[in-house]
Order: sequence, then C-alpha cells, then structure tokens
Amino acid sequence: MEVIKTIALLKKRVKKAKLDGKTIGLVPTMGYLHEGHLTLANEARQENDIVIMSIFVNPTQFGPNEDFESYPRDLERDCKLAEPVGVDIIFAPSVEEMYPTDGGIAIRAGRQSEILCGASRPGHFDGVLQVVAKLFHLSEADRAYFGQKDAQQVAIIQTMVRDYNFPLQIRTIPIVREKDGLAKSSRNVYLTEQDRKEAPAIYESLNIAKEEYLLSRNVDKAIELAAKHINEKTNGRIDYLQLLSYPDLKSVTDETTHFLLATAVYIGKTRLIDNMIFLNKGVIQHV
Ligand code: AMP
Repeated sequence: MEVIKTIALLKKRVKKAKLDGKTIGLVPTMGYLHEGHLTLANEARQENDIVIMSIFVNPTQFGPNEDFESYPRDLERDCKLAEPVGVDIIFAPSVEEMYPTDGGIAIRAGRQSEILCGASRPGHFDGVLQVVAKLFHLSEADRAYFGQKDAQQVAIIQTMVRDYNFPLQIRTIPIVREKDGLAKSSRNVYLTEQDRKEAPAIYESLNIAKEEYLLSRNVDKAIELAAKHINEKTNGRIDYLQLLSYPDLKSVTDETTHFLLATAVYIGKTRLIDNMIFLNKGVIQHV
C-alpha cells in the first residue's frame, strides 16, 4: 500500500493504471477509520483492480461553528487498518494541496440539499460535492463507494453524477452498526460514557417509527412516537426526524414506494445521524 499526499503523484499512478487497462474503485473518507469505512473498502476490493481510499477532512463541508478542528485524525492508525483490507493507495492530501486557489467557483447542491442535514448545515452539501467532484476527476474511478449512513449525501451525489455525466458508477453499502444498534461513526469517540449508553435509542426510535408507519400509514404519529422514545431515553435534542420518499426526498404520498426515515440527534455535544430505508411492505433495503 502506498500513501500519496500530492495530486501530481496520484495522477501519475492513475495514468499508469489506466494505460494497463485496470479498473479503479474510489472510497472517499475523512479518516479515523472504523468498520463502516473498511466494509466500503472491502466492497471496492472485490469489484476493482485498484482501490484508492482518500482520507481528507474537507474544510469546505464544515460550518464555522462545527468540529473541523477537533475532528479525529490519525493517519498512521488508518493505514494500519486499511492495508489488510487490500487498499492499494491512500490519498491523504493537505488542505493546501486540494484547494491551492480560491477561485470563487462553487458547486451548488440542488433541492435535495435544502432539508434534513442541509437545513441545519447550510453549505455542507456544496462542500461535499466540491470535494467529491475533485476526487472523481483525480482518481478517474470506474466506481465510487459510499455508505447509506449518509443517505442524503448518496442521493445528492447520484444526482450530480447523473446530471453532470460523471463517467462512473456509485455503489453503496448498508449501515454498519455496533451490536446495540448504534451506527458506527468516527464521531462516536466524542461520546461520554453516559452519552454512549443513551445513543442506541436513536436506532430504536427509527424502528419504532417504521413499525408505526407501516401499521397506521400515519407519518405524524410515527414521527411523534419515535421522538417520544428519544426524549424519554436520552437527554438529547432532536435536530430533525423525518419520513420522506427516497431518493427524491419529498413528502410521503400514497404513491411512495421507497421511504427514508432520517434523524439527527445531539447526544451531549455530539451530533449523531442515522437513517433507515424501507419499502412499502416494510422490507429494509439499501440504496
Ligand atoms: P466519513 O469518513 O464519515 O466521511 O465517511 C466516509 C464514508 O463512509 C461515507 O460514504 C459514509 O457514508 C461511510 N460510512 C460512515 N459510517 C458508516 C457506517 N456506519 N456504515 C456504512 N458506511 C459508513
């Protein structure tokens, strides 16, 4: 496994791979790897000749009062975890390497970015699309791998790929969870002991909402019951908790066949997100 920090060297390696007729799988991450990231890499390993994992805490997707500075970083640890999974190249550029100029040109995410995480994190998805578009170009990937953990992100990236004709396929994996249901996240290291005890209530609440919706077809009631569960079981604050159609992220109607139940909850100081995608008959799907 090779760790590359410059765009020039990455391009050199990519050019050689392409000349040799190799396929490339890209796994974009912000590092501090856990099993969710490694599952993505494993999937990429099975489907491509070369696996590139990017590790870059992207400043343009963080708001001014968010955790860009404190976000956990440990490249050495990440390399030790990525190598056994079969990652060929870790691309870990500096901020200056990725953004050498401020040309003022921005990518603006569309309607799908105005709700859920986009509503509480203005500009977040613009930053995500900016870094992802750059990584798609630099890696010349045939396939890029994303987790359903960030279902809204997947939906928005898929729209960009379709509307702007990026020549690659988006592949997704289901959410990887702890035994008690808490979705794995690099941010889980922020949780205090008490927070950690409360956090599984988030996933429990999604199950409650799903069951209630499939029984009563009443969105408000489903959301109310789930919110009640979070409020009773945690000291947390719900940022949002919504049931929408997927992947267009619109209000549920009688015609909706794919549902996204998504939430963000502050447990202590940590903002955790989780979601569930299910079909009309209740079968859980991944996108
Ligand atoms: P991050 O490093 O948090 O930006 O995540 C990098 C990629 O890993 C994204 O595509 C995430 O959706 C995915 N990911 C993060 N956590 C999980 C998880 N628990 N299960 C599945 N995928 C995940």
